[in-house]
Amino acid sequence: MPGTARRPLLAGNWKMNPLSAAEAIDLARAVTPAVRQHASVLDVALFPPFPWLRPVWDAVQGTEVELGGQDCFWERAGAFTGEVSAAMLAGWCRWVIVGHSERRALGETDEDVARKAAAALEAGLRVIVCVGESEAQFVAGQTAEVVRRQVAEALKPLAASSSERLVVAYEPIWAIGTGRNADPSHADGTMGVIRQFLGQAFDAGGDAIRVLYGGSVNAANVASYVELDGCDGSLVGGASLKAEEFSRMIAAVAAVSWSPAA
Ligand code: PEP
Repeated sequence: MPGTARRPLLAGNWKMNPLSAAEAIDLARAVTPAVRQHASVLDVALFPPFPWLRPVWDAVQGTEVELGGQDCFWERAGAFTGEVSAAMLAGWCRWVIVGHSERRALGETDEDVARKAAAALEAGLRVIVCVGESEAQFVAGQTAEVVRRQVAEALKPLAASSSERLVVAYEPIWAIGTGRNADPSHADGTMGVIRQFLGQAFDAGGDAIRVLYGGSVNAANVASYVELDGCDGSLVGGASLKAEEFSRMIAAVAAVSWSPAA
């Protein structure tokens, strides 16, 4: 993050939590003061489950908190029971996550991820495309190859003009929700592979695309990632459900020296 013109982003993926709208509202309200305090130096986006988007949207009106969906479908509308389109999300959200490994584990393919990303951009959303290797691929030394393929497949159909609204989150599957956060040097190397691809695929526009690390990031370790030149923030799961901890993470990212002029 130091030495880059890209604005840091801290994204809180709430997954299928919390269980009630009241808790979701409380959680969003509880992180709002930290977001406000550091709004001049970083973006903070929350990703509640679909049913809580509207109540959380109400709760954060007038604040700098940004909202996003955890997934979307590629068609705009029609006979697709259970799906939510990017166009529907656009009424409440600035962001959407696509290709999270927990969705890929349920059968989502690289092609699906590409279609979702394209639909989300078409709907005017900002998109976080998640990529990352399995434990077996990590052990076999295949991380760079796997991640490069996933990024290429997801971003291939996207126009260079969309780069301002694109974010890539590198999330090793073995690090998600396990407490085994990746060694910063491993994360740095893989984010370098992603950045190299972005430069080739989007020319100068690739520079605007933020690259995040995600996987067991918390208040104690977030600085070790955002201090890396190639890391523009973090996608956070479990720790984003703890308002006090997530607020400390916001402060920790803000404390890493970054300025738009850098
Ligand atoms: C995630 O859900 O994207 C994630 C990184 O989860 P956790 O922070 O809990 O590992």
